[in-house]
Amino acid sequence: MNTTASQSRLALSALAPETFQSEIRAMTTECDRMGGINLAQGVCDTPVPTVVEAAAAQAMRDGQNIYTRCDGIARLREAIAAKQQRDYGLSYDFDREVLVASGATAGLHAAAMALLNPGDEVLVFEPFYGYHVNALKSLRVNPVLVALAEPDFQLDVDAVRAAVTPQTRAVLVNTPANPSGKIFSQSELEEVAELCRQHDLFLITDEIYEYFVYDGARHICPATLPGMRERTIVISGFSKTFSITGWRIGYATADARWMPAMAHFHDLTYVCAPAPLQVGAAAGLEQLPPSFYTQLAADYQAKRGKMAAALEDAGMKPTVPAGAYYIMASAERLPGKTAAEKARHLLRLTGVAAVAGSAFFRPGRGENLLRFCFAKQDAELDDACARLRKL
Ligand code: PLP
Repeated sequence: MNTTASQSRLALSALAPETFQSEIRAMTTECDRMGGINLAQGVCDTPVPTVVEAAAAQAMRDGQNIYTRCDGIARLREAIAAKQQRDYGLSYDFDREVLVASGATAGLHAAAMALLNPGDEVLVFEPFYGYHVNALKSLRVNPVLVALAEPDFQLDVDAVRAAVTPQTRAVLVNTPANPSGKIFSQSELEEVAELCRQHDLFLITDEIYEYFVYDGARHICPATLPGMRERTIVISGFSKTFSITGWRIGYATADARWMPAMAHFHDLTYVCAPAPLQVGAAAGLEQLPPSFYTQLAADYQAKRGKMAAALEDAGMKPTVPAGAYYIMASAERLPGKTAAEKARHLLRLTGVAAVAGSAFFRPGRGENLLRFCFAKQDAELDDACARLRKL
């Protein structure tokens, strides 16, 4: 068959150009080329807890290297159910209501495949985490952005209400949030929960930063609010808490009505999460004492302090986050028309890579912001701070 170039069947899908997530990767590549310090990507390269690492290594030596049940090994599912009970008083049946996923990312994807149809709308708060928006788009689900009120990213309840349409099926809440560091308050979550109940919506949460909370703040799991357990898909994972972003171990907990379909879709893409690494995560959950989690928050609070002070000294006013491990800072003083140009300028001048704020907003917003990740070992963070101060 004769085809002209424009008709060729050798073409990307209609969705592909829409969902490329290029900016963070582009900065990482550029930073590597220059031998700079990468505060762009949320890779935490702090040490892995010894019990987690040792148990995974031992599991490999013991031959736990084959497929597991598609929703994960019983030991880890049990440990996750126990954790949800311990931390939030939520009861999940470990055999029917827990999915061990290949990262929180895979948990979200499985939930979206299982619960949402093409053309459905999901409310997503802005600034947003790019993967959330792109994962939904890749399934032909429409993310509807609801702007949080600046400067401190408060929930604008009227804006949320106004965004609901007959197509709305779910609200996605990321708390503590990337990139803003916002921790949704009890009253904000009550407003969101009320809306979900009123319009019969799912609530999909991303709680991957649940232990990264500062100044005595408390993370509230939205599934604990009245009437929310049955309609909330709780997603979290170990990438951040145990510094194992490359292991790909996360989870979802949800009512037994939703879980078999979620496990099915997770199975289709991943078959199962990496077997011996599931053992490592289980050992961490079982053996690490409560002080591990309080120390984690204290350590990251200290890192947050360093980063905020350096940005302040560099004349890039930071918005100090309540949780998670990113800081948004003003890029006003940097030359460049867009945040991407400003980020490249900063990299050239200081060797420190940050992400353009525009990556977290709808087009035209975020152009005067940069996001810095402070999940770094102290020596490297100190070096980055010293470089920024020379601006
Ligand atoms: N969710 C949020 C909000 C994140 O910021 C990240 C990583 O940056 C992830 C999920 C990724 O989690 P996982 O490694 O468990 O897929």
